[in-house]
Amino acid sequence: TSFEEVQLTELIRSNIASARYDSPTPVQKYAIPIIIGKRDVMACAQTGSGKTAAFLVPILNQMFEGGPPNIQHGRSRRKQYPLGLVLAPTRELATQIYDESKKFAYRSRVRPCVVYGGAHIGDQMRELDRGCHLLVATPGRLLDMIDRGRIGLDYCRYLVLDEADRMLDMGFELQIRRIVEKESMPRTGERQTLMFSATFPSPIQMLARDFLDNYIFLAV
Ligand code: AMP
Repeated sequence: TSFEEVQLTELIRSNIASARYDSPTPVQKYAIPIIIGKRDVMACAQTGSGKTAAFLVPILNQMFEGGPPNIQHGRSRRKQYPLGLVLAPTRELATQIYDESKKFAYRSRVRPCVVYGGAHIGDQMRELDRGCHLLVATPGRLLDMIDRGRIGLDYCRYLVLDEADRMLDMGFELQIRRIVEKESMPRTGERQTLMFSATFPSPIQMLARDFLDNYIFLAV
């Protein structure tokens, strides 16, 4: 199998080739067409399975197809309205996802950003000020940015919870719920939601029930 089998824009295909991804991993092979088909997904996949590209490729592909991101999405004075939001448990994982998103967004008008706790917030705010269409964030720092009026979720069409089980283990459930259940966050049906988790215990099943809309369950 190859990436040619799914309908992807020329730009994302050339960026996949530049990243030297020759053939999709199993989670990519199954998840990418489903996500392009606009369905919500709950995927059980381990680190190292290629899960990052499994959500970044179809989300960015859909952003590219939507034409250049609206000015509102990129910047509106000092408040950014990302089109896509990826929540991750740690700075390390958030940085990895961000690095991968830069590869796939290369030469596009989509600008990825990353924010995480334990680092200077001023530097991260200056990066956001340059425009942010896809935001990778740890939950606490994102809430801080929202409270400071730097991030608005009003136009968030794609929401990803990566390593959801680890986020719960680290005690982020309340913060995640505060983010996803914000008044400004589009409801299920108005956004596409994807959850990735290594395990599927009942707290994760409850999050999936609360956040996802008629989802497809994928175990690889
Ligand atoms: P992940 O599970 O998303 O953390 O990915 C694990 C590693 O595999 C990362 O270094 C990716 O860059 C790499 N990778 C993911 N998908 C592919 C692919 N289809 N071909 C080659 N490398 C890949």
